[in-house]
Amino acid sequence: MQEQIQAIRGMGDVLPPDSALWQHVEGTIRGVLLDYGYQEIRVPIVERTELFKRSIGEVTDIVEKEMYSFDDRNGMSITLRPEATAGIVRACMEHGLLRNQRQKFWSTGPMFRYEKPQKGRYRQFHQFDVEALGYSGPDIDAELIIMLARIWRLLRIEHVSLQINTLGTTESRVQYRADLTAYFRTRFDQLDEDSRRRLERNPLRILDSKNPDMQGLIADAPRLTQYLDAESEAHFNGLRALLDDAGVPYVVNPRLVRGLDYYGRTVFEWVTDRLGTQGAVCAGGRYDGLVEHLGGEPTPAIGFAIGLERLVELYALAGLGAPYRVPDVYVVAVGQAATRTAFRIAESLRDGAGALRVETNCGGGSFKSQMKRADRSGATVAVLLGEDEVASGTAVVKALRAEIEQTTVPMAGLADAIAVHLRARP
Ligand code: ATP
Ligand code: MG
Repeated sequence: MQEQIQAIRGMGDVLPPDSALWQHVEGTIRGVLLDYGYQEIRVPIVERTELFKRSIGEVTDIVEKEMYSFDDRNGMSITLRPEATAGIVRACMEHGLLRNQRQKFWSTGPMFRYEKPQKGRYRQFHQFDVEALGYSGPDIDAELIIMLARIWRLLRIEHVSLQINTLGTTESRVQYRADLTAYFRTRFDQLDEDSRRRLERNPLRILDSKNPDMQGLIADAPRLTQYLDAESEAHFNGLRALLDDAGVPYVVNPRLVRGLDYYGRTVFEWVTDRLGTQGAVCAGGRYDGLVEHLGGEPTPAIGFAIGLERLVELYALAGLGAPYRVPDVYVVAVGQAATRTAFRIAESLRDGAGALRVETNCGGGSFKSQMKRADRSGATVAVLLGEDEVASGTAVVKALRAEIEQTTVPMAGLADAIAVHLRARP
């Protein structure tokens, strides 16, 4: 016997019935985004490594240790996308979509990060990504958040809460950065290894540390809010007013940061306490400096990414299930001639005015075993075809969910006979 090949660690399959939950969650999000006027954009799953290095930043977890990078056959370094923003911004610039224009885009698909696999953290995972480019906000910032609140409501997800913060502008962070660096430098012996490494190149990222031993030090560190410029403060107040008007509750978390210079002003995160340690379900923020950083014209922009594995898990915990499309009709056919008739009538029922959902028995089987499958399919009625029916040009219509006596009808009357059953359906 050959050894069986297994999936790669941290890269999961989505099987039925879970795939129906995914369909429902993704379909709900997609519907809301279309209603708000966002359009789909699809970008490649691999890009040049350089794109991610430049857009995500060299001193980040992703670029330092999480990227799936390799050389293609021509020796070019390419990377499986760890997130979607870089590719979308690249595509916008490449196709001239940002010249004096505003764009509201969404995209979804797999992302890849070489992390330690655990519950809620995988090496292939999926995001629903939204980017609004050319908008300086704070109206669009509020729209994104209000739209997310609607998505949670439609999915009847209750246990998520919103944290927001403002990072100010790059200029306003210069003094903060200096003071923060000085603060940590005088406490160098208390820093863990990661934080020591981050100190010179990216001190804001120390605030993001998940190490419990570091939390006291971080709590006493200088706060960014004290350094905020007036315009950023007005922007933040504008966002808060719109959220208050919409009745979307939030807490301001001054430690919610992004370490990179082209991030600024609004950052937000939706978190839950229901999924253990991997509690961030959606993260977003403003990246007004990114387009310019990638060689384009200065373009304000904001976006977010929903982690779908975590969201689907949260949805599954509520036990609401997913709408399951059962067939209207299951066609049972015993024998070769009956099978040919079954295929013909199944197609005509699908074409007909009622556009019925029809499942045809494939794989043969006795009358009894086919009836079992018909029952399991959840169909409302079964159409039964055997040698006798084929010979006489009739079909038997049998109710599967109601106490209605079965009838034998001529082929020409089949659609009407089925319609009577479907109308009687609860
Ligand atoms: P974390 O701090 O948990 O590593 P992150 O800051 O790396 O998160 P983002 O890059 O902001 O995460 O990604 C947005 C969302 O994508 C996260 O809030 C999370 O829901 C999801 N996500 C990120 N990494 C993973 C992963 N490895 N597996 C599953 N979902 C993920
Ligand atoms: Mg991460």
